[in-house]
Amino acid sequence: MLKIGVMLGDDIGLEVVPETVKVMRAAARAVGLEIEWHELPLGLLGHELHGHTMPQYTVERLAQTDGFISGPIGHNAYPRNDPTWIMPPLRKQFDLFASVKPVRSYPNLPSLHKDVDIVFVREVTEGMQYSGTVVAGSGEFRPNDGISIGMRVVTRAGANRVAREAFEIARTRARKKVTAVHKEPVYRLVCGMFAEECRNVAKAYPDCTLDEVLVDGCALKLVVNPQQFDVIVTTNQFGDILTDEGAGLVGGLGLAPGLCVGARYAMAQATHGSAPDIAGRNIANPYAMIMSGQMLMGWLGRTRAQAKAARAAELMDLAMARTIAEGKWLTRDVGGSASTTEMGDAVAQAVADIASKTS
Ligand code: ATP
Repeated sequence: MLKIGVMLGDDIGLEVVPETVKVMRAAARAVGLEIEWHELPLGLLGHELHGHTMPQYTVERLAQTDGFISGPIGHNAYPRNDPTWIMPPLRKQFDLFASVKPVRSYPNLPSLHKDVDIVFVREVTEGMQYSGTVVAGSGEFRPNDGISIGMRVVTRAGANRVAREAFEIARTRARKKVTAVHKEPVYRLVCGMFAEECRNVAKAYPDCTLDEVLVDGCALKLVVNPQQFDVIVTTNQFGDILTDEGAGLVGGLGLAPGLCVGARYAMAQATHGSAPDIAGRNIANPYAMIMSGQMLMGWLGRTRAQAKAARAAELMDLAMARTIAEGKWLTRDVGGSASTTEMGDAVAQAVADIASKTS
């Protein structure tokens, strides 16, 4: 029995997260996978019920799950300078060290390139020490008005674990290719250590290949010939920039899913924010959130040796591809006219159809 925490978050989170759970439930049902769902307050609801946007109540219960789904947080509307209204630091709390972001084109959706299928694996606990990655103080300081200094940290352990995650993902894919992106010729020590660990980890994955590309060259290649990439692993700030570039290749925030991965937990979280401008109208695209849930299912399959979860993830993937190819139940941001719930229903139905034909 798997335990999954569900946090709706704010604004369109209230709409896209239930569709995600709907599709995950359909996939679990189709493969006979038992899941215990735990809905927990976060964001505005957390504040209303427990006086904090990330209540201790929620944190304690999440710690007892196998993984969780988090909707977007409407932090732009939160009062400033009040520590009870914060962007919930779930990544830090659960040591989720890698942000995994797939970028995929679909034949019938507009995108700059066709046949793009890349997974970015970005280290998110070290690198440039901006707020959120330091425990106390800051990695930036200004000794006088004419000088500002910023620090960058790479640890062997940090580089090793993110590289390992990249190879684990590559191993599940057809091309089994990892590209480590860095700038070793300039940042000999920090990028050097990152590259060394990627090479060390590669030795444990003889079924996969490793190549290395400098970050500026990678930015260019992504624009010119993104089809050459399979899994890209990189440090925090390089990844921050490259993942946005990747999302731009295939169009739209509604199409950008994500999974934050740690040693013990993973959290499904779409790239988009809470989109208050379209909230409450049942028009948000649930793709990114549903596919984040799909990634969580796949991760659970891989890390908990749960063949049923792996199969459920496969079904969700096929069902989404079919729904998009049919083009009938797409939301307006990708050229359709369906509602959020209609698209969620269509994907859930496709899961059941595909499962019944292949069982
Ligand atoms: P944040 O600062 O919270 O990350 P943001 O400024 O990046 O938020 P979003 O909330 O992600 O902004 O929204 C940016 C734009 O993209 C808005 O116009 C929004 O309506 C649109 N958008 C975001 N998510 C979706 C979605 N799932 N479906 C359709 N449109 C979306």
